[in-house]
Amino acid sequence: TSTRGCVRGVELHAHVGGCVRPETLRELARERGFESKCDEVLERAFSCAAANSSPGETLKRCFDVFAIAHAACDTPSAIRRVCAECVEDFRADGCAYVELRTTPKDLVGANGEFKMTKRSYTEAACAGLADAGGLGDGSDGRCVARLVLSIDRGRDDTKEKAMETVQLAAEFMHRGVVGVDLSGAPHKGSWELYEDALKEARQLGLGIVLHCGEVVDTKDEQAKMIAFKPERLGHCVYTVRDDDLYGRLLASKIPVELCLTSNVMTRSCDSVSEHHAKKLLRDGAPICFCTDDTWVFNTTLRREYAIACDAFGLTMNDIRDMAIRAMNFALCDEHVKIKVIEQM
Ligand code: IMP
Repeated sequence: TSTRGCVRGVELHAHVGGCVRPETLRELARERGFESKCDEVLERAFSCAAANSSPGETLKRCFDVFAIAHAACDTPSAIRRVCAECVEDFRADGCAYVELRTTPKDLVGANGEFKMTKRSYTEAACAGLADAGGLGDGSDGRCVARLVLSIDRGRDDTKEKAMETVQLAAEFMHRGVVGVDLSGAPHKGSWELYEDALKEARQLGLGIVLHCGEVVDTKDEQAKMIAFKPERLGHCVYTVRDDDLYGRLLASKIPVELCLTSNVMTRSCDSVSEHHAKKLLRDGAPICFCTDDTWVFNTTLRREYAIACDAFGLTMNDIRDMAIRAMNFALCDEHVKIKVIEQM
C-alpha cells in the first residue's frame, strides 16, 4: 500500500555474503565456471527443511549456501562490487540507514599466493560503500551505510585470527567501520575463544553485536553474552524460550535484531506467528526487524516489515516508530543518527 511505501527502513542485521544480488552471483559463478552449482546448493539446503530434519541440522545446511557466495566473491574487486550493490539494493528498498556486516577473509589461490587478505578484503568492502555513496552523514537525505566486521566462528578459529579482525576494524574506522560482530555456524567455537578480542574491540571504541541463542543447549554462552552487554544481540531464539535467560535479557535492555523469514526458513521457529518477536513485543523489549540474508531467504526489509504487520497486528505507523527507535541502536556517530532520524 502507499503507507507501506512511505516508511524509511533501518537495516541493522544484514550479511553481505547472504545479500549478494542473484544475477551478480550467477555472473561471478559463470566467470569462475560453477554457475549450475548455485541452484543445486540452494535446493539441497532447503530440501532438508522440507524433509523435516532437525532444526539444528537445517541451520547447519544453510551454512553450505554461503560457500557459494564465498567462492564467487573471491577477489577484492568482487567484494567491492557486491558491497556497493548491497547498499544500492537496501536504498532502493527504502532504507534510510543500513549497517552491513561482512567477514574479512584470507584466500589463497591455486598458485599458493594470497588472492585476497583480510586487509585487502576490508579495504574493498569500505571502497564498495564509498562507491555507492553510502559514507555520508545523512544530511543529503541519501541512505547512509556503515560496516561491521564479522568474526566467523568457523573460519576464525584462533584468538589471533579474531584479534586480527578487531585490529582491522579499528584501523578502518575512518572509512566506515563502526563495529565488530560474532557470527557464523553457532555450534563452532566457544565464547572463551572470542571474549578477549571482543573486549579489545570495545576498548578501541568499536560497537559490539553478537549472534546469540541460535541453537539449543548453549545456555551458559548466552548468559555470558548478555553479561558482556553488547550494543545489540542477534536472533536470541533460545534465549527467549528459557525463563531465566529471558529475564536477564529483559533486565539488560539490550536491543535484539529479529529476522523473521530467516528463522522460519532455517526452522529455528515453526512459523512467523510462533516467532519469539511476539513475546518481545508483548513485553516492550527493544527490538528491530531485519533481513539477515536477502538472497538466501529471498526477502527484503520492506517485506519483513509487511510480514511483521500481518503476523503481530502492527500498523505501518508502528513500524515507522520502531525503525526510528532502531536508529538509536545503530553503531554510527550520534550526529549521523540525528540526521537520519530527521529525514525519517
Ligand atoms: P559474509 O560475512 O559477508 O561472508 O556473509 C556470510 C556469512 O555471514 C556466513 O558465512 C556466516 O558466517 C554469516 N551468517 C549469515 N547468516 C547467519 C546467521 O543466520 N547466523 C550466523 N551467521 C550467519
